[in-house]
Amino acid sequence: MSLVEPPILVRERLFIGNINHAAKVLQEGDDEITHILSLLSSASISFFSEWRANVSIKTKEIRKVYAGDDAHSSSNDQVHSENSAVGNEKLLYLLEHAGPELKQVRMAVPLRDMENENLLDYLDVCLNFIEKSREEGSVLVHCFAGVSRSAAVITAYLMRTEQLSLEDALESLRLRCESVCPNDGFLEQLKMFEDMGFRIDHASPIYKRFRLKQMGESYNRGDKIDVSKFGIDPGTTTENFPSETAANSTRSTKLYRCKRCRRIVALQDHVISHTPGEGEACFEWKKWRSGNPFNCSDEGECSSIFIEPLKWMTEVEEGALEGKLSCANCDARLGNFNWSGIQCSCGSWITPAFQIHKSRVDLSAL
Ligand SMILES: [Zn+2]
Ligand SMILES: [Zn+2]
Repeated sequence: MSLVEPPILVRERLFIGNINHAAKVLQEGDDEITHILSLLSSASISFFSEWRANVSIKTKEIRKVYAGDDAHSSSNDQVHSENSAVGNEKLLYLLEHAGPELKQVRMAVPLRDMENENLLDYLDVCLNFIEKSREEGSVLVHCFAGVSRSAAVITAYLMRTEQLSLEDALESLRLRCESVCPNDGFLEQLKMFEDMGFRIDHASPIYKRFRLKQMGESYNRGDKIDVSKFGIDPGTTTENFPSETAANSTRSTKLYRCKRCRRIVALQDHVISHTPGEGEACFEWKKWRSGNPFNCSDEGECSSIFIEPLKWMTEVEEGALEGKLSCANCDARLGNFNWSGIQCSCGSWITPAFQIHKSRVDLSAL
């Protein structure tokens, strides 16, 4: 998109553009565009704020929301809100009045144009904002170049509102704006979005695998282990989990207990299923697209289950690459963890892996 051309109309009251388009609206106002969704890196958001201050563009903050605030957490993701006081919150979005007469509403969402960037967790707020903005006026969705981030979010919006496959939505967007090209990581996540039925389903194995992969990447980058992302310890929370899982699952809730002391180790919902015998199961999203992952959870040949990291795993918190997992009550050895992955007895590699030996636990109904 060139500097001089106006933002491109994708649908009625929905525009795609680049940072210059946004700057122009903020500086000069606009008769049509009432809302702006800015998808920029945190650094660019700060820089943009400085620029606006320099050219004396008025803004008035409405609110800042951090990942983990109640506004974001859905009912099945209490894990985040519970720990929002830890001080490592990540900005989810900034909402403000902007423009020459503070007539525009702008939402800024920190998002980098990188393949491993977490797009999925921002989709709900972005798509809801677009939807609401179109009810009230017209919205400009922009990133830096108007090629990857803004295109990814608009593609997701078209998928959700028009029930289009990723391919069809992208194709439809390209008819309006030829240059759009979400990065490969965003495309993978949009495919997951499609597979989850155009919503972010935190209980879905697709989402769980994605989140685990994100945690693995964060570990590999050398980030401090964020325990707030660990699942609730079912052994200590007696009230929280039955209602929580019952609400999200039509399956009967099963749980794993320590064979020695009977303490609850994990719920069936914590298990991240894999297809027996397939290599690199965790990273090969394509293999999951054809089959129903639930079919693979009652593995006959696997001698272990692999679960999401839970709060009783104190050994993991300490930051080692690998180690053992022991019962929080009786200290019996239950399994192992390894951020680089563990091979299941069926041959599949699970990465990262939080492995519980089936021989050390009993499976029972709730
Ligand atoms: Zn296996
Ligand atoms: Zn035990």
